[in-house]
Amino acid sequence: MAAPKRFFAQNISEEMTLSEEEGRHAKNVLRLAEGDEVTLFDGSGKEYSAVVTRADRQGITVHVVRENVSDREPKTWVFLLIGALKGDKTELVVQKATELGVSRIGVFSSRYCSAYMNENKLERLNRVAREAAKQCLRASVPRVEYYETLEEALRAGSECVTRLFACEFLDETEKDLIDTGATVCAVVGSEGGFAEEEYALAQRLGYCGVSLGKRILRAETAAIALLSVVMHEAGELG
Ligand code: SAH
Repeated sequence: MAAPKRFFAQNISEEMTLSEEEGRHAKNVLRLAEGDEVTLFDGSGKEYSAVVTRADRQGITVHVVRENVSDREPKTWVFLLIGALKGDKTELVVQKATELGVSRIGVFSSRYCSAYMNENKLERLNRVAREAAKQCLRASVPRVEYYETLEEALRAGSECVTRLFACEFLDETEKDLIDTGATVCAVVGSEGGFAEEEYALAQRLGYCGVSLGKRILRAETAAIALLSVVMHEAGELG
């Protein structure tokens, strides 16, 4: 039997109606009917098994039967900081980072960054994270926040045990990436890259420079590559 379909819901209670958007999808696309089993998640890491008690024009009502603990969350807590990218590139990074198991995402503006951010875009990014979590069976949804400056972003990651700053003009990585510790902050610049003084600032704040090899990668490739290395070292891939 196929796994129960997953739905995002806020304020999960024993008897509840799915949001209009999730309800519409459940009814019109997935054709859910009374008696079908579903999984609900609220992004906090908990999941709930529920049964559809009503599926009609008023929406989908469910009865929650039990709470489950998700075993899909990485043991290493990873915070991605990414420069705001042009077009829908930031969305792509949020989607891939969520799939790779990142716990929190910060988008920042920096000296050579030409993309801008607003409330709508931020809301859209959080929605992309929710959809990605749903699709890859995660019960936690990484929150996406915006920082107006690189310094603000770097300070937000300063509590992390390991702080990595992917820098395109470095020939070598300053520190062995193996044994990343329980919390990792990984920083990747926007299309415009970083300025020398931005790297100096990161160093002052305890970040170590990381080289991703001899080729200059696009920002989105760099983010996915760095996160893959971190997750691999943390034993989360395979
Ligand atoms: N415009 C820059 C490239 C920016 S690449 C230039 O022409 O040089 C965007 C971001 O991806 C960089 O800021 C860095 O964080 C990351 N990146 C790309 N290639 C990298 C590499 N070889 N090593 C480390 N970081 C890299």
